[in-house]
Amino acid sequence: MSEFDLVVIGAGPAGMSAALEARRHGLTVAVLDEQASPGGQIYRNVGNADARSRNVLGDDYAAGAELVAAFLACGAHYLANAAIWQVTPQRHVHYLIDGRAEILQGRHLLIATGAFERSMPVPGWTLPGVMTAGAGQILLKSAALVPVGPVVLAGCGPLLYLLAVQYLRAGIALAALVDTSGPGDLLRSWRKVPGALRGWRDLLKGMHLLRELKRAGVRHFRNARDIRIEGDSQARALSFVSDGRHWTLPASLVLLHQGVVPNTQVSWSLRLQHDWCEQQLCWMVRRDSEGETSLPGVFIAGDGGAIGGVHAALLEGRLVGLAVAARSGKVDAQPLRQRAEPLLTLLQRQRAARPLIDALYWPQQQNRIPADEVIVCRCEEVSAGAIRQYVELGCLGPNQTKAFGRCGMGPCQGRLCGLSVSEIIAEQRQVPVAQVGYYRIRSPLKPITLAQLATEIPHLQEHS
Ligand SMILES: Cc1cc2nc3c(=O)[nH]c(=O)nc-3n(C[C@H](O)[C@H](O)[C@H](O)COP(=O)(O)OP(=O)(O)OC[C@H]3O[C@@H](n4cnc5c(N)ncnc54)[C@H](O)[C@@H]3O)c2cc1C
Repeated sequence: MSEFDLVVIGAGPAGMSAALEARRHGLTVAVLDEQASPGGQIYRNVGNADARSRNVLGDDYAAGAELVAAFLACGAHYLANAAIWQVTPQRHVHYLIDGRAEILQGRHLLIATGAFERSMPVPGWTLPGVMTAGAGQILLKSAALVPVGPVVLAGCGPLLYLLAVQYLRAGIALAALVDTSGPGDLLRSWRKVPGALRGWRDLLKGMHLLRELKRAGVRHFRNARDIRIEGDSQARALSFVSDGRHWTLPASLVLLHQGVVPNTQVSWSLRLQHDWCEQQLCWMVRRDSEGETSLPGVFIAGDGGAIGGVHAALLEGRLVGLAVAARSGKVDAQPLRQRAEPLLTLLQRQRAARPLIDALYWPQQQNRIPADEVIVCRCEEVSAGAIRQYVELGCLGPNQTKAFGRCGMGPCQGRLCGLSVSEIIAEQRQVPVAQVGYYRIRSPLKPITLAQLATEIPHLQEHS
């Protein structure tokens, strides 16, 4: 089994930046990612994107090409198409590649698995013709695929507006943008404005996006409530209430989005300490200023730790690279600490606008904790009403819903339903979410067949 000074899970901005920093100090580094090329979510496939795609996806996307090229040339051992299905506290990383199961070990481990989208369980969200905005963007970035027919985007958050603008640049006519944020969110967020001014660049970008949508004449409904996707076997229309009026807009594709949340599957599977964050309504791994978690030698950086955006992810990755270099004793710790100080200052600035963004695009309660009839766990078809019944029967937390009704036991391993299940139970029990907890995440984090698992045996024998 190969061993490295640093093993990084995830070749997004955080993982690439950590690898670059660690390589600068002479460490041996392995980076694994299930994607076919480095870049993570924001820079997905940027190395292969042609001029037209870069134009459609914008300057922020194209800027990633330089980082990806530097990463590929830095001497890190990069494994593409490697899906990590198990990580042990001894920092053994088990992954599937080309249908085989392989293992490697890190003297230090960085979890840089980024974010995934918060699900938006509204009536009809499981119908064909409904996807997340992020999924729409993945198709655009990885295959230049664009939708036909009336497209409606619904929800809130920067990624929703970014995709709308990217679709416009790709020549897609948008039927409407149905925004769930409204005056209440504005009122709640005004207190955060002074602090956010230090992160004015992010705010400016958001304003540009909204201006571009306005200039293009996209119908923009605000403060939308009671969102429902109509249709029997396929999405046909989106209905909602906005400013006291009921609307039904024909749509063959509805793209839902209400923000992104840290992907905590690996960190939960390692039983790291997590805290419920009321500001971002999600779980966050507890870590120190260098990114080290409650398990010594295991670090976290980027959106997988807390949603902070690409520039924060880059800085956090560098900080972990520096910390691991210092721990490895290959370079003096003192000068490295001095190098970390300006990065920490920049990081504070990068995070400054986040409280305002979180308050402005607060996911509505009815779209997180839905009515009884709405399916929450779509893998096992468990509704919100069923989860409430489990609570009445004595179910105390998400993990027990597995025994009551297989909730969270499907192929996604709770990624889609986990947050809603925790919140539904907390509301029903009238206790804080922190008291209810989360699923007890176990491997396999990604589906693996027995035949694939068997290919790991020679590696285990070699190790024993
Ligand atoms: C769908 C989506 C689209 C986004 N698009 C944009 C955008 O266009 N612009 C923008 O500013 N921000 C975007 N974001 C926000 C974005 O996550 C951050 O700005 C930035 O990419 C965070 O960098 P990161 O390195 O922390 O994580 P990511 O860039 O998310 O990188 C994490 C990497 O980990 C890999 N990974 C995760 N789990 C495993 C596993 N088990 N096995 C193997 N590999 C794994 C993933 O494949 C991914 O490449 C998007 C977020 C999402 C969820």
